[in-house]
Parts: sequence; structure tokens; C-alpha cells
Amino acid sequence: MYKSCHIVQHGLCFFDIMLASCCFSPVDQIEGQVPPVLYPDYKGQVMSKEELFERMKKYTSVFKNGGCPKECETCYHIEEKDWSEEQYIDYITITHFSKCNADCIYCSNNTMVDSRTNDTYEIMPVLKSFKEQGIIKKSCELHIGGGEFTIYKECDELLELFAVSDFARVFVPTNAIKYSDMLFRAMNEATTYIIVSLDCGSRKLYKKIKRVDAFNQVMKSLEKYAATQKSKDAIRLKYVIIPTINDNINEFKKFLKIAKHLGVKNLVIDIDARYSRMTNFNIDEYFIDLADRMNKLALKQKFITEFFSFLLQNKNNKEANGMNWLKRIYKKIYFRYFDKEICDLYMHHCYGMNRTLYGEE
Ligand code: SF4
Ligand code: SF4
Repeated sequence: MYKSCHIVQHGLCFFDIMLASCCFSPVDQIEGQVPPVLYPDYKGQVMSKEELFERMKKYTSVFKNGGCPKECETCYHIEEKDWSEEQYIDYITITHFSKCNADCIYCSNNTMVDSRTNDTYEIMPVLKSFKEQGIIKKSCELHIGGGEFTIYKECDELLELFAVSDFARVFVPTNAIKYSDMLFRAMNEATTYIIVSLDCGSRKLYKKIKRVDAFNQVMKSLEKYAATQKSKDAIRLKYVIIPTINDNINEFKKFLKIAKHLGVKNLVIDIDARYSRMTNFNIDEYFIDLADRMNKLALKQKFITEFFSFLLQNKNNKEANGMNWLKRIYKKIYFRYFDKEICDLYMHHCYGMNRTLYGEE
């Protein structure tokens, strides 16, 4: 029995320039903190099982000896239990591409619009090799980060390899501007979930937030993605409250109308992370009240709601400890928790976002 973390034992995160255990660590709440790096200067190199687990030992052995790697300090993923010595991977994150066909005002990558690229290494050879070597477990979770997955060159192959053929659980944030038939198949035939940040219910506001005039296109894609009951259930529609832009209940009502029209039950409500940072997490009561009103309205209409936040993952964060806005939100808002199995769904491309769980009332 010792303290460690499932991801350091069994996880991989593919960045554009390195291979790491996870992408939970490089959150901007701790300046300069990097994730546990397994392979610096990584460009898709294939390696043997022995080499991979030898590299992972750099961190797992620290935990095993009662310590904690500095990269993992304060991480909420650490837990104490009997850790198996079995060598396998069942938690993969892919975030080595960054191109997107939208330009959301809140995107963590929107300062590098011109340099966002899909011109990155191919990931299929290494994943196929890991599969052939028996490294990847059948029940593996695949989390997508980076840019817009549907325009990434290996999107279909990855879905085919993980979702459609192997029934791994795949979590895909997508803006739904481009419809992907393979993504629909993965949702409909396998265990793939998508999260779409719509943040509004009208074309005009969509254009203001996403900075592309693609509202009608997104509606068409969503209608196709929501074609069956199974695929409807695999969709989460998200509303990020963006101060001064969509922070009103009327826009949210339009958003609910769309969700109802699509038959999508699962909603996510959040607050723009830039605003939280700008105000040093002193979220104005107005937004907390607004989130509360939105949530009540959604629950009344039999939607299922969740709340995301990336603050809680970092125990160093004063906000996670003191009487902060999240706690104010907990006290105030009851969000119904719809899938106890899905504990670490990625919030839209932002590293380290953690879903906050709410018990049944
Ligand atoms: S930073 Fe957290 S999630 Fe990542 S390997 Fe360390 S303990 Fe695990
Ligand atoms: S938030 Fe997502 S959809 Fe929006 S610009 Fe960023 S990567 Fe693209």
C-alpha cells in the first residue's frame, strides 16, 4: 500500500514535442510546472515495452519508495492503495496537434492562431506497435485534446483502432463544424462521447464567440450526431458563461431549445476560465446566481447538468481550499451527475480540467 496515481502507472500523453505521463500538471496555476516527462524531443518514435516501462519507472519508483515526484506534487490524482506491478497502458491522451477551424474567444490556444498546425508526427505507428506488443489494454480510455479532432489527419484511423474495433472509451471535444461519419459511428456503435461547446442559441452570438459564421453548419452536424438514442446520449452540449457576451438567461433559454430539439439530455454549464484568472478567482455573485438560475431551469426541463472546473485539480490553489467561488457554487447549485463512470472527461482542450462530481440529491 502506498501513494501513487493511476495515470503515472498506466497513462501516456502525447504532446507535439514530448511524451509524458499525463497533461494534468502543466496548469497555469503553478508557474513553470511541467508534467512527468517520459521522452523529451518525442516525434512519434516507436519503442519496446521494456523501454517504455523503464522510462515510466523514473516516476513510479519514486512513488513506490514513499516519495512524490516534484511534477506530481499537489495533484488530486494521487491516492493510497495497493498498486499492481502489471505493465499496461489504459489511459492515453493525444494532444500533439493544434489546428482548429474555429477561433473561440476563450480558447487557450487562440494566441497562436497562425501557428496552430496539424503538421505533426504520425501517432498511428506507435499506437499500433503498442497494441501489437500487448501494451494497450482493451478497456483503454482515449482522451483527445489539442485542436479540432475532426480535421486532424489521423482522426478516422484513431477512431477505427480504438473505438469501432476495440470498444475503448473515447472522449472527443469537437466544435461540430465539420461532421465526421466515423465519429458518429464511434458514438453509435461503440463507447465514444463528444462534448460540444455551443455557448449560445443563435447564429449572431455564435459568430461573436467562435469568430466563424458556422452556426447553421454546426446545427446540421448536431442533428446527424443525434440521429439515434445511443448517439444522443453520447453528446454533451456545453454553455460557457462568458461575461458581457452570453451572460443572460434569455440566450440560455435558446440554448435549451436547441438541446430539446436535438433530444440531447446532457448539458454542461461553466464559467469562462479567462474571467476567473483575470479576477483572481473572485467570481462575481452575479455569475454564480446566473449559473444557479440556468441550472434550475435546465433541471426543471429534465436535463441532466454537470459543472466543470480545472481549479480543484491543484490542491495548492488557494481557491480550492478557502471559501472560494467553487465552494460558493457547490453550496448554491445542485448539478445532477449523470454518469458515475466517467470521472475524468476532458473539458474542451484545456489541460487539467477536472469534472466536479455531484451526488444524487
Ligand atoms: S501529475 Fe497527477 S495525474 Fe499526472 S502523473 Fe502526476 S499524479 Fe498522476
Ligand atoms: S476552444 Fe476548441 S473549438 Fe474553440 S478555437 Fe479552441 S480548439 Fe477550436
